[in-house]
Amino acid sequence: MVFQENSENQTPELEEIPSGVLAKIADLGFNATEVKMYKGELIIEGDIRITLDELDQMSPGNSLPVEEHYHTDNLVTGTPRTINVYVNMPQKYRDATDIAITRYNTEGLNLTFNRVGSSGQADIIIRASPWYYYFFGILGSAGFPSSGNPHGTILMTRAYYDNVSNINGLATTIAHEMGHCIGFRHTDYMDRSYSCGGSSDNEGDGGVGANHIPGTPTGPSASSWMLACGSPEGDRPFTADDKTALGYVY
Ligand SMILES: [Zn+2]
Repeated sequence: MVFQENSENQTPELEEIPSGVLAKIADLGFNATEVKMYKGELIIEGDIRITLDELDQMSPGNSLPVEEHYHTDNLVTGTPRTINVYVNMPQKYRDATDIAITRYNTEGLNLTFNRVGSSGQADIIIRASPWYYYFFGILGSAGFPSSGNPHGTILMTRAYYDNVSNINGLATTIAHEMGHCIGFRHTDYMDRSYSCGGSSDNEGDGGVGANHIPGTPTGPSASSWMLACGSPEGDRPFTADDKTALGYVY
């Protein structure tokens, strides 16, 4: 998730992205105009972190997620299934993760989240993001499932959250990144300006992954936990449409 006030004029120097890389990103159904590269890592659509090696291994048709009101071709399989989450961060982050987990588990999905005390058992590890996330306005990042397994890493930006007063805001961002890890795209991927401000900007058609979920809006969904941009203190518990989408996919 991205902080809605972009701080473009104070960012570290981004690397030039080879045209072949941008073409691959577009082939995968993502918006190739919304890509940042730093130290060989790509950030696409605001908060999806992919290394160049991982990009090489992705191919259209087996790699992409969707957004909340659209489900992806690539989800977590083997359900019902328990997903263990290890938080390698201070207590506040463990507390917020527990809130996020409760939000998911309350929905009675075929995925059950469980916080564990060691990395060895973990399907998802939550740890601190690198320093430059703060300069890019990135609250946290994640990735999408691969080979039927959830994405394994969530990075959270301590500069935004160590002193946050509303722990539900932190829980919302963790729940958002968990949503990516199990295959949800941004609710407003068709127009990021809905939550991010600025000019209208389509993240891409989702290529292989934008399958609309019956009973949910086709446009941006107000207050959804999967909006592209938010604020550190903003709490967005699951809306009725979010719950419909979660229940449909899992
Ligand atoms: Zn996101």
